[in-house]
Amino acid sequence: MNAPLPIHNSDSLSAANGAGTQEKPGLVLLIAAPRGFCAGVDRAIEIVERALEKYGKPVYVRHEIVHNRYVVDGLKAKGAIFVEELDEVPTDAPVVFSAHGVPKSVPAEAERRNMVYVDATCPLVSKVHRQAERQIEKGQHIVFVGHEGHPEVIGTMGQVDPDQMTLVETMEDVAKLDFADETPLSFLTQTTLSVDDTADIIAALKDRFPHIVGPKAEDICYATSNRQASVKEIAPGSDLVLVIGAPNSSNSVRLVEVAERCGTDAKLIQRADDIDPAWLEGVGTLGLTAGASAPEKLVREVVDKIAEWRTVEEHTLVAAEEKMVFKLPRQLTE
Ligand code: SF4
Repeated sequence: MNAPLPIHNSDSLSAANGAGTQEKPGLVLLIAAPRGFCAGVDRAIEIVERALEKYGKPVYVRHEIVHNRYVVDGLKAKGAIFVEELDEVPTDAPVVFSAHGVPKSVPAEAERRNMVYVDATCPLVSKVHRQAERQIEKGQHIVFVGHEGHPEVIGTMGQVDPDQMTLVETMEDVAKLDFADETPLSFLTQTTLSVDDTADIIAALKDRFPHIVGPKAEDICYATSNRQASVKEIAPGSDLVLVIGAPNSSNSVRLVEVAERCGTDAKLIQRADDIDPAWLEGVGTLGLTAGASAPEKLVREVVDKIAEWRTVEEHTLVAAEEKMVFKLPRQLTE
């Protein structure tokens, strides 16, 4: 194990289930806070639940409402039907758009078909959409920092004409940009990027194009920043970090990277059953966190699974307090 950590908050525990507890080797479990659900995910799930109450079953959801199989399966059991595109939704059925946001063409098509739709786009993603509109109104070409193919990136790039925005993912992409000196430029970023990588990319953009303008702070959201900060609290003192999240969850994958950059092995798992007990061999201190789309229930499931093998001493390390709550769309509260 590495150097000892500041423990801000300690939940003594816990642990062990069943007989033979005394014989289990001990394990210090450092749990990151904040972790798991963010305000945008909470809101998106509640939107689907309220839509089911208001309109009855089935309610269609375009794209996974959030990137978590447990959440999606739970909503399916309540009557939600998940599809990838709007043309899979019957015209007379209500449809919810996911938290990641959608290109402008999607609500436009729903309106053309006179469909009932509810937009669960996270307000922090909508904020980036509005920034994009404003930058285009000012005649700027937008350099968008994000991961190609991610639904949020597709949604944000779909707010403007394709020739008005250029996607960059890496420093190499920045080096390849070829704008004329007089081109008015601005930048925006995906909300769930690595804080550190994005700072480097923005610095490279400003270096190459000193006249480029952008938001005061990058658009990485509070939840992404806080979860990365909390991994930096647990990882240096851990022998291994487990991150609960889906492989297609951008913010969860970033948490694995942040832990690895602290010099600690990290593994992305979706459920407790994904843990190979061999991973814990030689591990005296284990870090645990969860991406913004993973519910707390899955964290407890992992703690319980580990307690089957080890006597767990559980500590929570708090990097930030979160109190953010987003309002529901008025059409579901009236
Ligand atoms: Fe919104 Fe951030 Fe949560 Fe994405 S991770 S839903 S941007 S709060």
